[in-house]
Amino acid sequence: MQARLFGPGLPAAGQACEWQTDSGRIQWAGGETRLPSTGGALRSAGFDLAGLELSWADDAGRWALQVLAAADATTLRATPPAGWEEAFAQLAGTTRRHRKGRALGWSALALFLAAPLLLLAGFFAFSDGIAGWIAQRVPQAQEEALGEASFRAMQASLKLRDEGEAARAVREIGSRLTQGSAYRYRFHVVEDKAINAFAMPGGIVVVHSGLINATRTPEELAGVLAHEVQHIELRHSLKGLIKQAGLSAVWALATGDVGGALAGEAAQRMMSLSFSRDAEREADNAGFEALLRAGIDPAGMPAFFDTLAKQAGSAPELLSTHPASEARRDALAGRLSSVTNRRFEPLPYRPWPPAP
Ligand SMILES: [Zn+2]
Repeated sequence: MQARLFGPGLPAAGQACEWQTDSGRIQWAGGETRLPSTGGALRSAGFDLAGLELSWADDAGRWALQVLAAADATTLRATPPAGWEEAFAQLAGTTRRHRKGRALGWSALALFLAAPLLLLAGFFAFSDGIAGWIAQRVPQAQEEALGEASFRAMQASLKLRDEGEAARAVREIGSRLTQGSAYRYRFHVVEDKAINAFAMPGGIVVVHSGLINATRTPEELAGVLAHEVQHIELRHSLKGLIKQAGLSAVWALATGDVGGALAGEAAQRMMSLSFSRDAEREADNAGFEALLRAGIDPAGMPAFFDTLAKQAGSAPELLSTHPASEARRDALAGRLSSVTNRRFEPLPYRPWPPAP
């Protein structure tokens, strides 16, 4: 049956492959492997979890095989591959408990998909609520594949500056802020004077050199990173993309084909994706907590708003995509006044900002 394989040496968005379920052989143009008969992990996958993902590890690394066509998934559930019987039985146990909710989910989905089609104007933008509902149901592997594919699509137009002190500081601070996350984060620095940073679904954070140069302390940079990371953790970036791309996003995520048109669209929109006031407040609050957990002085978070206010000229890009700066600064300053009893080790990067 048709499947999509993720693993060492394969494209981040996965590799289309043919899986012979009886022999376990998995073949694609340029390679083949085998489903281990010793079993592995199994979970529901794909849009509304109608598909299946089988994953295992070997000497080469971690592999995941996705079967997203509902009919194929049903066939597999009826006749699990050799050695995977127990995993399927376990999943069936958890699925049965959720079946009622699932059925409701599908009828709601049918309604959501049908409603915009009725609009003859072809206006497919989703409301916040619908986009959020969908975003919460996208499997993490799909989300990561989408982020990776859209980063690749935009990479040619980015001047990556991943060497040097600034990039090292971004990576180190970023890794402290994302300890224990389910996502595997990557932090990139891009040479660009515009004061901006953005977060892509699945764990990619991009920071402009202009933003780093505008910060007065590494703690201010940490504040921005903490905020951006939460847009990923809380799936705001994914939700924003679904909201803007509408049905084409749902279609791509449902079929697993995130490497194509959707990635291209994401690449174009990602830098200018703007968030709601609620999303901003959530990202500030969760980011503030992340700074505390990482032992980084959260004073840099409200302080950076003052730094931005002193910037000459028009408002930086960062404030147009992450709005409501005054209310946010005041709320953060309020939170800060409740942690006056804590002492924080200053971040070690001096002088700041680092030389390019
Ligand atoms: Zn934001």
